[in-house]
Amino acid sequence: EQASLVQVENIVSSTNDILKQQSQELSQEQSKNGMVCLAEAQTDGRGRRGRKWVSPYGASLYFSMLWQFDNGYQAMSGLSIMVGVVLNNTLAQFGVTSSRLKWPNDVYGNNKKLAGILIEVEGQADASVSAIIGIGLNLRLPNDLQGIDQAFTDLSDLLEKPFSRNELSKKLIENLWLALPVFEAQGLNPFIEDWDEADLYKNQEVVLISGDKRVKGVARGIDNSGALLLETDQKIKPYYGGEISVRPA
Ligand code: ATP
Repeated sequence: EQASLVQVENIVSSTNDILKQQSQELSQEQSKNGMVCLAEAQTDGRGRRGRKWVSPYGASLYFSMLWQFDNGYQAMSGLSIMVGVVLNNTLAQFGVTSSRLKWPNDVYGNNKKLAGILIEVEGQADASVSAIIGIGLNLRLPNDLQGIDQAFTDLSDLLEKPFSRNELSKKLIENLWLALPVFEAQGLNPFIEDWDEADLYKNQEVVLISGDKRVKGVARGIDNSGALLLETDQKIKPYYGGEISVRPA
């Protein structure tokens, strides 16, 4: 039996959880690449390091896509960067002009958080790996929303015209389906220019925070593995993902 490629759920723990479960249940022969889960609400939406992604009913896009990488983790480096670029370009197709990308996994609008990307991984390190690409994109949040401890915004704030959630989902799926094979074949290179144009902190003074370590410098974009390039004392050094947060200095 073939699993349907796009499934729409009501309330889930998280759309990433649904695809994780299903990727374990499906056999190798069953096609699962590109499988999508959308939901109206999440009871356990997550950000990085177990932080909560506030996910009120019907107010945002809660979206996940599964993609299998046959060459293990190596082939996946920079995936969240690529997904950010695709999401930002999709928003641009709907008329959003003010959105920016914040390394490594967030989309901002007018300096406030609009969307987050969470990539989770299933499978062996050196064999085939399933990436679960999660996106939470705020569409129209309730006015009295509680529980977000930083500035945030939604798409209705950035667009004067009404937009269709279905059309947006459809475009996002199409754009990811088109971009993922390009990324598999060529890595991040085809996406770096778009990143640079939308980079929230490019050429600005920032602090990188990781645990109790802090490094101050000037952000100089990304390299083709997705590392953040930071200039300190006239030297530019790459910083790799995972635990690092970037803030304005
Ligand atoms: P980093 O810069 O390290 O990515 P972050 O605080 O942006 O830090 P994420 O893991 O990307 O961390 O996202 C989780 C954070 O996003 C939460 O701690 C909260 O501050 C914020 N947040 C939670 N839900 C939402 C939402 N619906 N819209 C905007 N921001 C949210």
